[in-house]
Amino acid sequence: MIVLKFGGTSVASMLKIDQAVSIAEASLDECPVLVSSAMGDTTDLLVDITASAASGNREATRRSLDSIRESHLAAARLIESTEIRSVCEADVERYVHELESLATGVSLIQECSPRTQDAILAFGELLSTRIIAARAMDRGINTRLVDSRDFILTDDSFTKAVVDIERSYAAIRDSVGTSSGTLIVAQGFIGRTRSGVTSTLGRGGSDYSAALIGAALQAERVEIWTDVDGIMTTDPRLVPGARTVMHMSYDEAAELAFFGARVVHPSTIQPAIDRNIPVYVRNTSRPDRAGTQIHRGVTATGVRALATKSDVSVITVRSSRMLNAYGFLAQIFAVFDRHRISVDLVTTSEVSVSMSIDDDRNLVELQRDLGSLGTVEIERKQAIVSLVGQDIWKDSRTVARVFGVLAGIPIRMVSLGNSDVNLSMVVGQEQVTDTVTRLHTEFFDRDGSFPADEVQSVR
Ligand code: ADP
Ligand code: ASP
Ligand code: MG
Repeated sequence: MIVLKFGGTSVASMLKIDQAVSIAEASLDECPVLVSSAMGDTTDLLVDITASAASGNREATRRSLDSIRESHLAAARLIESTEIRSVCEADVERYVHELESLATGVSLIQECSPRTQDAILAFGELLSTRIIAARAMDRGINTRLVDSRDFILTDDSFTKAVVDIERSYAAIRDSVGTSSGTLIVAQGFIGRTRSGVTSTLGRGGSDYSAALIGAALQAERVEIWTDVDGIMTTDPRLVPGARTVMHMSYDEAAELAFFGARVVHPSTIQPAIDRNIPVYVRNTSRPDRAGTQIHRGVTATGVRALATKSDVSVITVRSSRMLNAYGFLAQIFAVFDRHRISVDLVTTSEVSVSMSIDDDRNLVELQRDLGSLGTVEIERKQAIVSLVGQDIWKDSRTVARVFGVLAGIPIRMVSLGNSDVNLSMVVGQEQVTDTVTRLHTEFFDRDGSFPADEVQSVR
């Protein structure tokens, strides 16, 4: 079997849904499970609803609800079969009505708990998959719509629920019976707690749902269909000349995802790595292009892609007590641990330690608690730029090229990732485009860099 996951932009209108359904239709004999995100920016609108309802802004809540209702009904109206269309339209109306009731509840108590937020956010995927399944049936495809909450089983850390992998795998095997000639349609992003309450896996979590289903059913491959030609040398929105990297190792993809390449969700890769399932990243609007294949056996070395992560803060603790003292770093990290904040990069000198975090919750409390260990300085509006590729550091010429080309850009921190596949640095947010453009030109646009769309060394 195979899993085909479509992101929000890939199902943003009936035209796009048709492209997605055509891609699935072409693989019907491979027992496909189609996993979908919410249509377009629906999840953002749902987040807006939770905020506007909680602050009592009825007008804004109404506007977002109307926009969701209209965009989904506009798609549903294009279903040709009268019978399928009317059932689908009625279901859309019913979902929107439930959503309105929840929003009214939130505006009455003027508070939206994480649990209620998840109940609201789940409607995005429930709505999109309802329409996709109806369209597939409308086109004469044997289709089964399933409810992912029946088999993605989570704890109750709402808004970022943790999946109980073994129970979910068993449930997926029990309830997602694939067969040749049938298209199964499932929601990404949503799950259910032990006590039966709807939960979500965190923003961008549909990739993770797809990988979990693929891993449970030992898929031949998981295809992530999105709005760009695969994983590229860098975000094409930042550098228009970015090119597709046709083959990537799991480590490279995981590192790229962790350091900000939104194109794949960081935790997506894990279930696939565990079961050795190849993951493809492809463009829904250009299914003729191969995109990227993430798999074992990629042995390319050198700089393979650049990632950026914005809105990072750098925290520096300075103390002469650090000199020749052991246990000091442990005390610092114990503070982060207490606040449940994870650190991305760390650099140390004899009397100071700098750490970057991309989470600005609890900064005041963090600063206060770290204050007992030394003087604390926090710099906001920083960004991490990472070069990803096997053994980058082993060739000192690469490192020399990096710093040569960045002459004049103040670099705040430099770090070699613990997995040996990245070199990361922190620069001011306003320097990101310049930094990435210079690095991209140096490593991908000059003689000796690989030509566009070339298959790189794969063994
Ligand atoms: P989807 O809605 O399909 O899940 P996302 O918006 O999550 O899509 O991810 C696709 C986007 O990721 C692209 O539009 C692109 O701007 C961004 N992106 C960031 N880094 C990269 C990269 N290295 N290669 C490709 N896309 C990237
Ligand atoms: N719809 C969810 C989001 O926008 C999940 C996803 O698209 O992966 O975050
Ligand atoms: Mg995504």
